[in-house]
Amino acid sequence: MKIKDVRMEVYEWPLKTPIRNGLYTYTHSQLNLVLVDTDDGVQGIGLAGGILGTPEVGPAILAHFRKGLIGQDPLDHERLWHEMWRPKLVGRRGITTRIIAGVDIALWDIKGKVARMPVYKLLGGYSNRVDTYIAGGYYEEGKGLKELAAEMARNMELGARAVKMKVGGASINEDVERVRVVRETVGPNIKVMVDANNAYRHYEAIEFARKVEKYDLFWFEEPVEPDDYEGQAAITHATSVPVAAGENEYTRYGFKELINKRCVDILQPDALITGGVTEFMKIAALAQASDFDIAPHGSQEVHIHLVAAIPNGLILEYYRDSTNPMHGKVWKNTLQIKDGQVYAPDRHGMGLEPNFEALKPYRVA
Ligand SMILES: [Mg+2]
Repeated sequence: MKIKDVRMEVYEWPLKTPIRNGLYTYTHSQLNLVLVDTDDGVQGIGLAGGILGTPEVGPAILAHFRKGLIGQDPLDHERLWHEMWRPKLVGRRGITTRIIAGVDIALWDIKGKVARMPVYKLLGGYSNRVDTYIAGGYYEEGKGLKELAAEMARNMELGARAVKMKVGGASINEDVERVRVVRETVGPNIKVMVDANNAYRHYEAIEFARKVEKYDLFWFEEPVEPDDYEGQAAITHATSVPVAAGENEYTRYGFKELINKRCVDILQPDALITGGVTEFMKIAALAQASDFDIAPHGSQEVHIHLVAAIPNGLILEYYRDSTNPMHGKVWKNTLQIKDGQVYAPDRHGMGLEPNFEALKPYRVA
């Protein structure tokens, strides 16, 4: 079996309303498909982490790797990963690992299709269903405490047993009030997480964490800049709220730092960013050796397989349609929440079936 072609399709569509977290405002959502065709007619579909607003960058980086992939056996994921990553001159982290990730996920899709098995089975098959949480609670124009409470109430109706909200985009005391409202809306038995998206300085994060400890938070995500390892460790030691991070960390080497320095309590690798399935599984194993749990960031369609495969998969992040008009339309099969959990798909490979008809108007590269 040989790789015949590797290409990328980038789609961008506007959100219903711009959403803001602790540091950034988003007006659009992006999907980066990596398609790997083989001489056997099996097609691998992967997802890459991209750059919003600059859709031409991903395909340009992929063009650099493409010539080395054509003619290779797509089942040799370990060798192909290292061949793409070895010339570190193109970058050990950042957009390079995001594109390697897209190719690697497509290779695992091919492997699953050839083996006639879903990827979560192929990787370990620890479980066929995982706990999940609905991510949201963004800042939006005209969205006050009442609207935030309504969003969380809707999450409960959809079967959520855990919810996440943004913090760090308002004053500390305003955010404490927002957390109070969410806790009172969902009641005492639902997990509540907060995510600052790197917005705080470490001393602000400690002040905030101490003020919200009484609301029984499941975790405090990305309190400070990802490179501030000492700051993260200081927060972890200063509060009883578990600290989570990793969506801006790259490769097993980055996670080794987070683990060995005991910077955080929960690790959040994103397979689309950190280097694909191959690298994610190494991070999960490294985490197991130090008794860390994994709660991956984003892309539920890919991460359902990875959380279900491993013994230290804590919970799956799930995005719904509160602001994204394409939720439920991007894929032919949308993962559904039932009693706070999501079932892994039985389809062979990653089970990613893009709805190309619906996506067509939004193709940008
Ligand atoms: Mg986050």
